[in-house]
Amino acid sequence: MSVLELSEEGDSLAIDIVVPCPTCSRALRISTRAQAVVETALELPLDDVDELYD
Ligand SMILES: [Zn+2]
Repeated sequence: MSVLELSEEGDSLAIDIVVPCPTCSRALRISTRAQAVVETALELPLDDVDELYD
């Protein structure tokens, strides 16, 4: 999964990401908006999370 674009719009974040299609493996671009954005205590980078998508 790759984040193409992240932009702040007021209290929310507009997010464009690319993920492989689960059925045919073509790239799918997803545009979404996070409605709840909070800072987290997790440390970046999230190595464990990246491994899930490899
Ligand atoms: Zn597909």
